Amino acid sequence: MTVYLVGAGPGDPGLITVKGARVLGRADVVVHDRLVSTELLDLAPRGAEIISAAKLPRQPTLTQSEINELLVAKGRAGLTVVRLKGGDPCVFARGGEEAAALSAAGVDFEIVPGVTSAIAAASYAGIPVTLRQRALSFTVVTGHEDPSSEHTVDWEAIARLGGTISILMGAGRAAGIRDRLLAAGLAGDTPTAWVHWATYAHQQTWRGALSDLGRDAVPSPSVIIVGAVAGQDLRWFSEQAQPPGAGSQAQQARK
Ligand code: SAH
Repeated sequence: MTVYLVGAGPGDPGLITVKGARVLGRADVVVHDRLVSTELLDLAPRGAEIISAAKLPRQPTLTQSEINELLVAKGRAGLTVVRLKGGDPCVFARGGEEAAALSAAGVDFEIVPGVTSAIAAASYAGIPVTLRQRALSFTVVTGHEDPSSEHTVDWEAIARLGGTISILMGAGRAAGIRDRLLAAGLAGDTPTAWVHWATYAHQQTWRGALSDLGRDAVPSPSVIIVGAVAGQDLRWFSEQAQPPGAGSQAQQARK
C-alpha cells in the first residue's frame, strides 16, 4: 500500500518523469487535479479507478480534507494510489499537506517530483530563468496570497533580490502585483512576460514592460515572469493552434 504523490509536469505529456510514468502505469487508483493533461491518464492501466479532485467553478468538488481522507482510505485498502498533480506536487499544490495526512495515518507514501510550470513556462517561452551576469537567482511566488494569513508575500524583499520573479496564480491579480513591484522599486521598463497554457500546443505568450502588466486581463492559467531574462526570446517552441483571435493578440504583444 503506497500512495505516490506524482508531479505530472506542466502540460506537455512528455514532461512527466520516467518514474512518474512508471508508477502511473501500475496504479489501481489515480486521483488527479484539473491542470493535468488527460493524455497522461491514458498511461494508467485499463480498469484503474480514475477520480477527479478538480476544483472547477460551480461544480461540487472534493475539499482538501476529503482528498486527504480519500488518499488515506485507498492507501489503507492496500491499493497502489497515484495522486497526480500539475507541475511539481510540492509547489503550491498542497502535496505537503497530503503527505502529512498520510504520514499521520501510517500510510506509506512517496513523492515523485515533477517539472514545475514556474520554470518550464519560462523555458517554453524562450526565457531562461537564470542567465550568467543577468539573473543570479529566481524566486517562485504565489500571486494569490491568503489575505487572512499572517504569512503574506514580502514583495519588497523579492524586488530587492534583483533576480527573476516567477509568479504562479497571479492572473487575476496582475495589476495589483505590478503596483506592488513598482512601489518596491522595480523600474517600469523591467521586462515582463506571461505564458498562458504553457507547454501546450495552444500556449500563448505576452511580452512587455512591467508598467503594462495587467492593463489587459491576464488569462488563467498563466505564469508571470518579471526580470531582465523576460527580455530574452530564444523562440524555439512554436505557439500554434491558438484559439481564434488569440494569435493576433500574441503577435501584437511581441512587437
Ligand atoms: N504545482 C504546480 C503549480 C500549481 S498552482 C507547478 O509546479 O507548476 C497553479 C498555478 O500554476 C496556475 O495558476 C498557474 O500560475 C501555474 N500553472 C500551472 N500549469 C500551467 C501552465 N501549463 N501554463 C501556465 N501556468 C500554469
